[in-house]
Amino acid sequence: MKKYNFYSGPAMLPQGVFEQASKAVLELDNIGMSLIEISHRSKEFISVLEEAKQHVKDLLQLDDDQQVLFMQGGASMQFCMIPYNLLNEHETAAYLETGVWAKKAIKEAKMFGNVQVVASSSDQNFNFIPKDYVVPSSAPYFHLTTNNTIYGSQLHVIPEVGVPMIADMSSDIFSRPVEGKKFDMIYAGAQKNMGTAGVTLVVIRESLLGKVKRPIPTILDYRTHIKEGSLFNTPCTFAIYVSMLTLRWIKKMGGLEVMKKLNEEKAIKLYNEIDSNPLFKGVIAKEDRSQMNVTFTINRPELEEAFANAAKDAGCIGIKGHRSVGGFRASIYNAMPMEGIDVLTGVMKDFALKNG
Ligand SMILES: *Cc1c(COP(=O)(O)O)cnc(C)c1O
Repeated sequence: MKKYNFYSGPAMLPQGVFEQASKAVLELDNIGMSLIEISHRSKEFISVLEEAKQHVKDLLQLDDDQQVLFMQGGASMQFCMIPYNLLNEHETAAYLETGVWAKKAIKEAKMFGNVQVVASSSDQNFNFIPKDYVVPSSAPYFHLTTNNTIYGSQLHVIPEVGVPMIADMSSDIFSRPVEGKKFDMIYAGAQKNMGTAGVTLVVIRESLLGKVKRPIPTILDYRTHIKEGSLFNTPCTFAIYVSMLTLRWIKKMGGLEVMKKLNEEKAIKLYNEIDSNPLFKGVIAKEDRSQMNVTFTINRPELEEAFANAAKDAGCIGIKGHRSVGGFRASIYNAMPMEGIDVLTGVMKDFALKNG
């Protein structure tokens, strides 16, 4: 039976990417060697790295001073690298608190300087995105999370704030067109919408750097990675290759406008089922609903486990909600086909009929 991976990450990738990545592990492009044994400084790997960078630049329409880096340590490592590199002890960085990941970013920043949470939806269990807030002009940067993977909310309008803006886009990067130039820094763990676990995309404007007074360990200094072209230490070559293939696929599909259209169609269909089915209810304020992570609950909690099992039996894997929200979460990233949505909404319909 066909299975659909609705987990929030690692997530499903296009079948063609799985196939080509498998082939490259055996032999990369007829060079007589495996992708995962060749030197990260070989011309073959440099060409993979360069192609990946170029796709990022093209898709996000970046300026020349926006550097594209492939790093390790996950998006979580960026939570501490950002304040380490950008926040002086006496300064106050601005953060928007919209969920678990934002909270984790805030926690790290407090170790390096001051943090002002300009707005938070924490007292409503993060079921909406705050919109009325002011970012102080003295803040060295403003940090936000464009898509809240766990709660299932998403920023549909990127604010204009007048200070350098940093975005954690781990769970919606390349799912819709983004004006990359608007951001002084963008980062994303690859394992949700871009590739396999192990690599983190960082886009950073060089003009942001060199302003903090503290010494920064070499490997945690963005300038090191810019200078060394993401080759300061051995990068995760396989993960970068898989990201490159996925980015190539996105372009071949027609780019981010096409991704957005497909993602919208899938999300609309699933939310329509949630809204019209008497058994289910959406978790997030309608205008802030995520097109990547669709969260919902069942109106009769005693049926929760039975529904989870019915979905699993139909091939829908990983729809149990995160432990901090409960209920269900269907993660429907770029590679999720419409058939996956059809199977899931079919299970929901059947389940409501049987239990109505
Ligand atoms: C998954 C996720 C993270 C953490 O990513 P890691 O690569 O596991 O460190 C951070 N932020 C968001 C929005 C995420 O979805």
